[in-house]
Amino acid sequence: MATYLRTCPFCEATCGLEIETEGREVVSVRGDKEDVFSRGFICPKAFGIKQLHEDPDRLTTPLVRRDGELVEASWDEAFEEIDRRLSPILGEHGKNAVAVYLGNPNAHNLSAITHGPAWLRVLGTQNLYSASTVDQMPKQVSSGHMFGTMLSVPIPDVDRCDHLLLLGANPLVSNGSLLTAPNMRGRLRAIRERGGKVVVIDPRRTRTAEEADEHHFIRPGTDALLLAAIARTIVEEGLDDPGALAEHVNGLDEVRALVRDFPPEEVADACGIEAGEIRRMARELAAAERAAVYARIGTCTQEFGTHASWLVDVLNVLTGNLDREGGALFTRAAAGQKNSAGAGGSGRGVRFGRWQSRVRGLDEYFGELPVSVLAEEIETPGEGQVRALITAAGNPIVSTPNSERLESAVEGLDFMLSIDIYVNETTRHADVILPAPEPLEKSHYDVAFYQLSTRNIANFSPAVFDRQGLAEWEVYMRIAGIIAGQGPNGDVAAFDDMVIQTLIQREVGNEASPVAGRDPAELLEALEPRRGPERVLDFLLRTGPYGDGFGSDPEGLTLDVLEQNPHGIDLGPLAPRIPEVLRTPSGKVELAPEAIVADVDRLRAALGRERNGGMVLIGRRQLRSNNSWMHNLPALVKGKESCTLHIHPDDAERLGLGAGGMAAPVEVTEDIMPGVVSIPHGWGHDANGVRMSVASEHAGVNSNVLADESQVEPLSGNAVLNGIPVELDRLEHGAAAVAADDVRGV
Ligand code: SF4
Repeated sequence: MATYLRTCPFCEATCGLEIETEGREVVSVRGDKEDVFSRGFICPKAFGIKQLHEDPDRLTTPLVRRDGELVEASWDEAFEEIDRRLSPILGEHGKNAVAVYLGNPNAHNLSAITHGPAWLRVLGTQNLYSASTVDQMPKQVSSGHMFGTMLSVPIPDVDRCDHLLLLGANPLVSNGSLLTAPNMRGRLRAIRERGGKVVVIDPRRTRTAEEADEHHFIRPGTDALLLAAIARTIVEEGLDDPGALAEHVNGLDEVRALVRDFPPEEVADACGIEAGEIRRMARELAAAERAAVYARIGTCTQEFGTHASWLVDVLNVLTGNLDREGGALFTRAAAGQKNSAGAGGSGRGVRFGRWQSRVRGLDEYFGELPVSVLAEEIETPGEGQVRALITAAGNPIVSTPNSERLESAVEGLDFMLSIDIYVNETTRHADVILPAPEPLEKSHYDVAFYQLSTRNIANFSPAVFDRQGLAEWEVYMRIAGIIAGQGPNGDVAAFDDMVIQTLIQREVGNEASPVAGRDPAELLEALEPRRGPERVLDFLLRTGPYGDGFGSDPEGLTLDVLEQNPHGIDLGPLAPRIPEVLRTPSGKVELAPEAIVADVDRLRAALGRERNGGMVLIGRRQLRSNNSWMHNLPALVKGKESCTLHIHPDDAERLGLGAGGMAAPVEVTEDIMPGVVSIPHGWGHDANGVRMSVASEHAGVNSNVLADESQVEPLSGNAVLNGIPVELDRLEHGAAAVAADDVRGV
């Protein structure tokens, strides 16, 4: 029996796992009590790592379509097929004819972080899409405008704050999102135990709301109005006090003037929260010794997502809680290509719209186009039409708006390649599927999410089992070889060398780097004998804020040091970082970014909207689900059916809907606001050709067939998935048929 310590890769919480194995069998999975961050906490999803390892449906061999059927092939045959099919498309139609979709698990994947950008650079397509524009792009856009980079996201200091105001977030279930913090139940309870207060705003009484001191239902899509009214109250009553931060902020007076147009008395009717309650919330927030406002997916996937994301940080500034212990601060991550090392204090800021989508003309954000345009880019003939699609760890046919249109578009592609662990609703259309290694066959370090953590943490996990196939980074490098015209057997080692040499060159040319001016060959030699993602990670750690600087600090962090500390290293609580962390051209916090200010009229206009009294649909997070692939793990789908429609008893009675049902089984519950129904996202596993036997038995319904791909948040390109107007019809057995309603502005 062997014991391995490993960081769970399934969500942002980065919990430590203790895994016992016997040969290639996983005997047990439990929480690592000595993990410096999670202290033994895990959620039910952690056990999925054993079931994923054992899952007979999980792909271990490449599949190639022959005579219409996906059949097993060798790796060499698969790459030959990719070369045969993809190269002519590139040669004839150019790089933009190949679209790429990256699913959410890429953010947790060390290979994808270290080597993903390299193959994407070689491809150079403008048709890059990801799960970010169905999830979090508004927060990244507002953070980019205000602080300078896509990862400049202030993180609530949950372990030291006295007052936490949460909107559209259910961290008890998600365990934090853009907030890496295991055991959020324990952390929220601790706020209350030390005399603090937790307030939740959500159209559902979530598990987080149940743990809070206070919960307010809010009409979906109106969070920005509520936040503006809270800000207005704070300004009007003279409670705003940015404190020492004021000298580092541009646009304070402009914001004070802007929020005057959102009096609580006018906002109350729109958002469904009484004006007196809004004023009380504002006063309590302003009066709290140490407070933070935090909002997540529910506030991003709506028509004012960027406004809501912006106003969260406006409130953190106005109340003097930005960059203050117990407020909202910036993580200082050990490894990261942004927001961690360097002189800081100013930078290039962000620039969007460097190119537009061909058909609808929507802007690019951080190098990607809104996934809502993918179907039309495939369907619409002409110069630049997408003719091939590469997906990596993604299931966009389930997880993006108007799934049926995307599915029909994908069927018309000339070629499709997927890198995935399953034949799912999307990959079943692929011509070649390359199996990705399971989590236990690869090393792990959460480069992205340690940059969004509520404590500064570093933890590295080596692979538990030998790999049975190629590593993802080797797959990327072979694909890069094909794209670069080297054929199916490109020199993987040479591409890997190119990745690290590019990084070294950049860093030795950075005056603020601890290795500025050093000999690149000497640094490369010091990283021997590591290769691949571990070599890149070691370099990032050594040149990061805690690193050894390749000898300048012998006590500093390296990958060797992390390997000697398998429970992780606690690098301390968050600490103030302004102005050093800022990358805006002015070197200041831009509290009134031009792009957002220019769109405040649209938000103001929403105040006067007539409501038609119809129902609206929202999603919901689930403890046993994070990505659609998890629905193939028995431990995560056992028990009561999860994909149900939540409806308030008053609405159920009015519409004649009872409990039970089949197509969209109804759960009547007072935990949802009247006028709102909820279906979780990521279900609908009943398509032919899917090879996910467990998921097929628990198919559920795909709520994204109701999401309208034409509804895109204009400042970030994010899909509008919350607040979809719907009509409900009664079916047999009390089930509900849900259909999109054309009338918006409910
Ligand atoms: S909370 Fe997230 S990281 Fe922790 S065990 Fe669950 S899935 Fe894994």
